Formats: sequence, structure tokens, C-alpha cells
Amino acid sequence: MFPVYLTEGYRSFLLDRFPTERRRFAQLASSQNPEILVISCCDSRVSPSAIFNAGPGELFTIRNVANLVPVYQPDGQYHGTSAALEFAVQALEVKHIVVLGHATCGGIKAYANKAKPLSPGDFIGKWVSLVGQAEGKAGDPGAPDYLTKLEHAVVVQSMENLLTFPFVKERVDDGRLEIHGAHFGVASGSLLVRDPETGAFKPPIDTTGQAVRSVAAIACE
Ligand SMILES: [Zn+2]
Repeated sequence: MFPVYLTEGYRSFLLDRFPTERRRFAQLASSQNPEILVISCCDSRVSPSAIFNAGPGELFTIRNVANLVPVYQPDGQYHGTSAALEFAVQALEVKHIVVLGHATCGGIKAYANKAKPLSPGDFIGKWVSLVGQAEGKAGDPGAPDYLTKLEHAVVVQSMENLLTFPFVKERVDDGRLEIHGAHFGVASGSLLVRDPETGAFKPPIDTTGQAVRSVAAIACE
């Protein structure tokens, strides 16, 4: 049986949301033209559309375990993340790519704790081994905030790996494409964005120059 949760959710969508966005969906029927690609984790708590309050057609999204981007590897094998990236950049010509990490990422934590096997299957251990590329950027593994630093380092590693794709590098170099890093706090609702100058993760700045901070983040200051 199709999950009741989904049937009821769809009913709410039809009654509440679809009527208000009917025109948008009609416009989108023939084509999509998102300007932003978000690469985020599969984690059910980290929904880019919810975090950025985005409507239909506004975000092209790639989700995989631990928001990882492998290096460019044109070897004739099946590369889901690379294929979606290629489509977003070359066909949709997105202007921004946001790598969105998050707090308490299970994939990154499992790698850091060397929790093997990560699953009884054939794929996740190999995939999460990509976290190893970022280990050297995360500092002392014994530090209390090591996992957060490793989550940030994975975002940076994915940003660097994006540049190994020739079609990404070319567009970044000539200014048609920007790559950004961000990290979502889950419990706090806080979003931190990587400062390209310093490499620090900080609250985003709005058009008035004000930092946009969650209530929980302000309470911690
Ligand atoms: Zn995750």
C-alpha cells in the first residue's frame, strides 16, 4: 500500500499549496530554468527547499550521502552525482553551485569513527571513503569540535573537487559560475556560509549588510 503519510501529504499539497502556485507550475511545465544547484546530503533533516524556502523550479538539487563530490573521472562507469552536475552546468547553465553540509552528518561521523562496515551492502563504505580526502584539513581528531571541522572540510573538499570538472573550471574562470560552501546546524536552524577570503564559516549577510542568524545561534552568543 502506498504510504498513508504520502497520500495525506499530497492531499494537503493539492488543497493548500498547489492552488497558490498553480501559475508557477504551469509556467514550469515546458521547461525549468533554475539558477542555483545545491549539492546536499540525503539526510532527511536537511531539505534544501525547506531551508531556503524555495518554490518549484528554483533549486536544482543533487543529494547523496555526506554531500560529496568525487573528482572528475570519465571512465565509462555510472556516476550519478557527476551526471547530474554535468546536466545542471552544461544544459541548465546554473550560475551558482552551493555545497551544503550539515551538523551530525551520519556518513561523516561513521567515517571518522571508523565504524566498519558502514552497512552490510556493497556501496556506502566505498562512497564515504571520499571523506578521507578532507581529513587533513580538519585538524586534530581528538578536538571536541572535530566532527564539525570535518563536516566543514568535506564541504571545502567537494568545492575543490568541483573544479576538477573541466566544464565547471572553465565557467568559474570566466565568471559565469560561482561555487559556495555552507553548513546547516539542524537543531539550531543556523546556516553558516564559507567566507571565500578567510575560509571561515559565518552567518550569511543580507542586502542591508546584516548577518542573518537563527534565534538559537543568537542565544548562544
Ligand atoms: Zn549527512
